[in-house]
Amino acid sequence: MDKRAIANGCVVTMNAGRKVLPGGTVLISGSRIEGVLPAEAAVPEGYERIDARGCAVLPGLVNAHTHLYSALGRSLSFNEELTQWLETQKGLIAQFDDEDFAACIEVGLALNLRSGNTCVVDAMALPADAAHRYPVALDLAERYCLQYTLARAYTDQRMSSDYIENVVAIERSVSELIETYHGASDGRLRLQLFPNMAWALSIEGFRMTRRLADKYGIGMQMHTAESPAYPVLIEKAYGHGSDVRVYQQGGCLGPDVQLLSCAHLGDEDFEIIARTGTRVILDPISGTTIGTGLPPTLRVMGNGNPTALATNGMASAGGQDMFEAMKTLLSLARVEAYDPLCISAMRALEMATIEGARALGLDSEIGSLEPGKRADVICVQMDQLYQAPALDVPATLVFSCNSRDVRDVFANGQWVVRDRKLLVADEAALADRAAKRASAAWARTHHAS
Ligand SMILES: [Zn+2]
Repeated sequence: MDKRAIANGCVVTMNAGRKVLPGGTVLISGSRIEGVLPAEAAVPEGYERIDARGCAVLPGLVNAHTHLYSALGRSLSFNEELTQWLETQKGLIAQFDDEDFAACIEVGLALNLRSGNTCVVDAMALPADAAHRYPVALDLAERYCLQYTLARAYTDQRMSSDYIENVVAIERSVSELIETYHGASDGRLRLQLFPNMAWALSIEGFRMTRRLADKYGIGMQMHTAESPAYPVLIEKAYGHGSDVRVYQQGGCLGPDVQLLSCAHLGDEDFEIIARTGTRVILDPISGTTIGTGLPPTLRVMGNGNPTALATNGMASAGGQDMFEAMKTLLSLARVEAYDPLCISAMRALEMATIEGARALGLDSEIGSLEPGKRADVICVQMDQLYQAPALDVPATLVFSCNSRDVRDVFANGQWVVRDRKLLVADEAALADRAAKRASAAWARTHHAS
């Protein structure tokens, strides 16, 4: 049946009025939301009825930046500083065969769906001779029904030699990938450009990035000022320590650009970001777990541009839990300001839904429960000992819920998680396959070193 009524839940619409409808109903027809009804309206005939009593019914969450290829190494680097962290993760990934890689991506996709993240931007940096794996990730994402954006990395300087390519070769292979996949699967699969880190690309490379972004109408993401090491590395490459100045010189600022982290930027950089309409993605869990920096939440949330929220990869975030990201964001901002009123639970929810979608340029399609939008809908349990009583629903979602409370997920109208069970893959078999492959690949890294 392709007509469904998700009834009796507390519908948190995230529409322009931020309407919350206790006992409301979300109607789905095919891949689209057909209507949102208040409690007093009768559910029309001809719909499969799904009882969401005790749940909040929300738009699927927008995880604006992660690295699914870190899923198998997720436990390895929590006691390493960033440079060693990168070496460990790269060392493990270097041992992956194509089957290991596929298992790793599948774990990441499955975990995002189970966590209620129906939109994911997956930033992926593979060695130059492993470019055939980008399509593997895109094809798997299609099977998992996600709104999936692959942010394809590249580098032409100051990285290990197996990752470096010249700008002409990069432009050719990235263009091919965009032309094959961007907008495929009825617009669910998308491409972004991922010049990764400021010191690892020449100005010529950044200008090529801008050219491709304009040619294909796609966005770009960059890791920006994540740790105190960044300015030192940028200084060596460019004679100054500012990521933002490098991007500016290469034409890579503006509303189609999202900068991840920004923990160590200066005042002038934040002014340029605000003035150019550049977006910031906050990843409060990752910066704090590996101790690289605090999210500049208060610096960017009032700058007039939409701000997105992200988990970042599993090897720095542990999971893919956007509820944890919301709670951590609020907690850190409030202690920074010594003021619990500086940011509300609703504002964090906005960054995880409609505002995050706007930052990615996807708000006409996703981010709120409104007629005509994609049927990306989640039901989050709120009536158990862990969460109840939910008198203030946004506060309950942010402060008392986590990703394990996501009961049902509809992605593009398809029921993909039902009663906490993944329907698009055998979750236990996937976890078992991934664990075996991770152990074998990890053992091989010891032989390799
Ligand atoms: Zn990242």
